[in-house]
Amino acid sequence: MNIRIFRILGIDIKVDISWALIATFIAWALAQGVFPRLYEGLSPFAYWWMALTAIIGLALSIILHELAHSLVAKFLGLPLKSITLFVFGGIAELEAEPKSPLAEFAMAIAGPLMSVALAVLFGWTAANLAAVEMLSTISKVFEYLALINWVLAAFNMLPALPLDGGRVFRSIVWALTGDLTGATRISAKLGMAFATAIMILGVFWALLGQFAAGLWWILIGLFIRSAAASTVYQELMQRVFKGAPLREFMSADPITVPPGITVSKLVEDYIYEYHFDLFPVVSETRLVGAVGLKETKNTHRDNWATTKVSDIMVPISDEITIDISADAMDALKKMHSSKHSRLLVTDKGNLVGMIALKDLLDLLSLKMALEGR
Ligand SMILES: [Zn+2]
Repeated sequence: MNIRIFRILGIDIKVDISWALIATFIAWALAQGVFPRLYEGLSPFAYWWMALTAIIGLALSIILHELAHSLVAKFLGLPLKSITLFVFGGIAELEAEPKSPLAEFAMAIAGPLMSVALAVLFGWTAANLAAVEMLSTISKVFEYLALINWVLAAFNMLPALPLDGGRVFRSIVWALTGDLTGATRISAKLGMAFATAIMILGVFWALLGQFAAGLWWILIGLFIRSAAASTVYQELMQRVFKGAPLREFMSADPITVPPGITVSKLVEDYIYEYHFDLFPVVSETRLVGAVGLKETKNTHRDNWATTKVSDIMVPISDEITIDISADAMDALKKMHSSKHSRLLVTDKGNLVGMIALKDLLDLLSLKMALEGR
C-alpha cells in the first residue's frame, strides 16, 4: 500500500506505508535517544526539530539515490514508472530490463555514486556550519545525514542481487561471459550467501543481547534472500515465455458447453465426464462465456435441475480471453492481474483453444529441473 507524494521529471514519487512507520520509529529514536545523548542540555522541542529535519533529509537522500538510477535509465531509453520509499530504502520500478551489460552497469552504479556525492556534500556542509557557534546544533544533523549516506552507499554496493552492487557484479559477469542467465544465477547465489551471512550475524547480535538490532539484520537478510530468489525466477520466466507463441501451450479445440443446458447436465455430462474445471460456453458458433467448478459450487444443489448454464456463466470479456497473437508472457500477466487461472484463446473473436496457468508452470518447473543443477 503506498501513497503518491509528488511527481518529478515524469516520475511518481510514492511512500509505502512500511516506510512511513519505520520513519516515525527512527524519528522517535533520534529525538528520544540519539540526539539527547550526543548533545546534552537542549530542549525536547529542539531534539524533535532536529529529528524531523534528519528524517526529511533521509527521505530526500533515498529519493535522490533512486532518481539517479531513474535518470540514467531514462537517458538509456528504459521507461520508468515510479519510485517508492519502501521499508529498506527505495525501489525504482522499471518497465523493462537493461539491454546490455554497460547499460546495466551505468544504471546500477548511478545510485551509490549519488549517495557518495551526498555524503561528501553533507559532510562539507556540517564542517562549515560547525565553525559558526550558533549553527553547531544543525551541523550535527548534517553530520548524521552524511553518515547515513555513507551507509546507504556501502550497503547498496554489497555484491548481492538485487542490491545495486549485485547488479554491478552481474553486469561485469555478463560482459565477461556474454550470458545473462548464467550471470543472474551466480549473482543471485552470491546474494543468497550474503543474506544468510547477514541473518547469522543477526542471530549472534540477538544472542548477545542486542535484540532489536539482531532482529533488524535478520529481516534485512530475509528480504534480500527472497528478492534474490525471485530475480532468478523472473529472469527464467522472461526467457521461457517472452515471445513464445500461445499455440505451443494451449489445448486446441476444447470441449464446449451450450448455454441452454441445466447445471445438473453440466455436472453429469461435462464435469464428471471430462474432469475439467472450466468449459467455454458456445452458442451456435459464437463464444459467449465460460463456466466451471466455481460457478457450479456457488449454485445451490437444489437449484441445479432448474438453473441454466447461461444464468451462472462468466460472460465473455477481455478478462477471460486472450488473442492468439499474444505471447505466453502476456497470458501469465493477464492471469496474474485478472486472478483467472485459465484463459480462452480467441482468433478474431472465435474460440481456438484454452490456456491454463498450471500448464505454463509445469513447463517452467521442468525447465528449472533440467537447467538449474
Ligand atoms: Zn540503488
